[in-house]
Amino acid sequence: MIDNDYLIKVVDQSGQVRISIAHTTALVDEARTRHDTSATASAALGRVLTAALLMGSDMKGDRDVLTVRVDGDGISGPIIATVDSRGTGRALISNPQADLPSKAPGKLAVGELVGKNGFLEVIKDLGMKQPFVGKVPLVSGEIAEDVASYYLRSEQIPSLVTLGVLVDTDLSIKAAGGLIVQAMPGADDSILEIIENNISALGPISEALVRHSSLESIAGQVMLGLSYNLAGQLPLSFKCNCNNERLAAIMAGLGVEELREIEQNAGKIEVCCNFCNERYQFKLDELLQLKKA
Ligand code: ZN
Repeated sequence: MIDNDYLIKVVDQSGQVRISIAHTTALVDEARTRHDTSATASAALGRVLTAALLMGSDMKGDRDVLTVRVDGDGISGPIIATVDSRGTGRALISNPQADLPSKAPGKLAVGELVGKNGFLEVIKDLGMKQPFVGKVPLVSGEIAEDVASYYLRSEQIPSLVTLGVLVDTDLSIKAAGGLIVQAMPGADDSILEIIENNISALGPISEALVRHSSLESIAGQVMLGLSYNLAGQLPLSFKCNCNNERLAAIMAGLGVEELREIEQNAGKIEVCCNFCNERYQFKLDELLQLKKA
């Protein structure tokens, strides 16, 4: 077992292959608790959030944000995760309670829940005039294959992606994490072959995370037979960027009549952040003041 959520990057000695490995058990469990997800929805949400953290770990700028949106035709509805360069992430799944029977013991039906007809979209806001947007059709809705397809088709980077979320019988997250292997242009096939075989031998990543006591130890197994260097490390956490001011500003954007109606019908003006389920309450007067400001 690994104590904390973090991510490491490893590069082989010749710089041809880079690997990122993430442990995300606590943050996926926090997402699960906040959204009260079913077992299959936890796995789907956890895979998308873990993928986003792995994909966003190359960002440098303080305000850089990467968003992954998975929109299939399954009953989960769209799943969205956003992460920043400091290793914090948040995510939502449209139908957190949606669930399907497992395909086999320990094999949650994530692909079916998400649906394979649809798109995976990646939006990178790196402080340029326009965000970078890449969108590819889903391959299976299992997320890992879909992310690999995104890298190949949208960024022309051959990648091997594995993501895993192990859900316990009490619905808590027993282990979550993932890894991405990326080949630089002209990478030696024999190096890739060794890594691929090592990853097969490692077995499912969620189980490897339970067996190993650190990501460095998993990296050692993935790079077995190769010389490599540790190229970076980043702590990871579930953290939302919503706050009182931001949601007040959104609510103040509604019409006066609409706000009055909400207060009359509900007895209060309350909004809930879609990404973390935090509730915020406002007084009508306070929002009207904001409108004037
Ligand atoms: Zn929030």
